Amino acid sequence: MKYYSTNNPQHIVSFQEAVLNGLAPDGGLYMPQTIPSLSPDFIASLPSFSKSEIAFTVARPFVDEAISDTDLMKIAEETVAFDFPLISLNPHVHILELFHGPTLAFKDVGARFTARILQHISQQHQKRITVLVATSGDTGSAVAHGFYETNGIDVVILYPKGKVSVMQEKQFATLGKNIHAIAVDGTFDDCQRMVKSAFQDNDLRQTMFLTSANSINIARLLPQSFYYFFAWAALPTKQEVVFSVPSGNFGNLTAGVFAKKMGLPIHGFIAATNSNDVVPQYLETKQFSPRPSVQTISNAMDVGNPSNFARLLELYQNSWDAMTKDITGYSFTDEETQHAMQQVYHTKNYLLDPHGAVAWLGLTRYLKDHPQAQGISFETAHPCKFTEVVEASLHIAPPPHPSLQALLDKPVQSISCPTNFQNLKKILQNLIAR
Ligand SMILES: *Cc1c(COP(=O)(O)O)cnc(C)c1O
Repeated sequence: MKYYSTNNPQHIVSFQEAVLNGLAPDGGLYMPQTIPSLSPDFIASLPSFSKSEIAFTVARPFVDEAISDTDLMKIAEETVAFDFPLISLNPHVHILELFHGPTLAFKDVGARFTARILQHISQQHQKRITVLVATSGDTGSAVAHGFYETNGIDVVILYPKGKVSVMQEKQFATLGKNIHAIAVDGTFDDCQRMVKSAFQDNDLRQTMFLTSANSINIARLLPQSFYYFFAWAALPTKQEVVFSVPSGNFGNLTAGVFAKKMGLPIHGFIAATNSNDVVPQYLETKQFSPRPSVQTISNAMDVGNPSNFARLLELYQNSWDAMTKDITGYSFTDEETQHAMQQVYHTKNYLLDPHGAVAWLGLTRYLKDHPQAQGISFETAHPCKFTEVVEASLHIAPPPHPSLQALLDKPVQSISCPTNFQNLKKILQNLIAR
């Protein structure tokens, strides 16, 4: 499989180059030249395959031959080495729990796959690699843990100071060793812009091998298709299945569209957002108007200019009509989100985190107009990662999680940085000079 840049279809690279570059040199995002079709037999017999077999089969056509079947199978196995339970709240509402990985959020899947692919590339080419990533919360911890103590790889994580939860910061800024956290005096969008500048900076590109590991990177995106197949395999009946995806940068939803185009008979998607509703607005008005993000209680989705929108446009050949046939958008306020957490907890005894609550709201809203449909709503993080929000919404404390409790005593070790790119550049240059 070859990959092209969304800014220039003539710029064509291999899978490995696409993963190493992260972002194309022209600022575009990498897309596979075609979306491979999986055999209808494979789709029909999904329940008979293991998770690793499904992950391997989905990934194989996207990954070039430089990674052998044996190596790719091992990468697939390690990537999905935890549970993905599907919980039915009623015959129309199923929750797919994506938070059973090491950092208790769905981003573990993409981060673990990316770390293993990059380690493979680093070994093969004997190159030291620096992973540069902006996080609004959960990317940072997933990437930090995915790459912790990986030989040949340094990880630099930019995050908006004071705008991620205490627990999130502890998860990525206390590890040390090859993991470096940078607290930026600004918003997530500032962090993302600084990362983009670094990738476009020739000095840096000449002295260090920079790559990204957030949802810009194709290796982060692809494995997120796996769990659409897992969920499908676990569903008792398969008619009119929609997925409700709590969205920020739209990597998760884009991976779902990949799964559909590969042949999984998904009826549609719900793009559920908080007040950062640029995509639902586009779906309603045909106008795409990125704007600065606003802070909400579902902070991992506080994105004002979702980077994967460019990929969605490619997948639908820039056709608003085609996109709106597949994707319905809804946005919800913090008040609605808190109310949803209360309602589901009191009527179903199920504790949603604020992101999962936005997805549940999206599905519930959709089912009002489509009562015959059934939906899978993604629960993208464990509620104990958002203790403050759970306590404020429900007046109960979420049950403590042992892996998080252990973090509380560890000191945060991050470097402060103003929103100015030159400061980041200096930090990076010092880092590799060591
Ligand atoms: C990142 C994240 C999201 C949003 O996912 P995108 O792929 O950026 O749309 C939703 N929920 C949680 C908990 C996240 O960490």
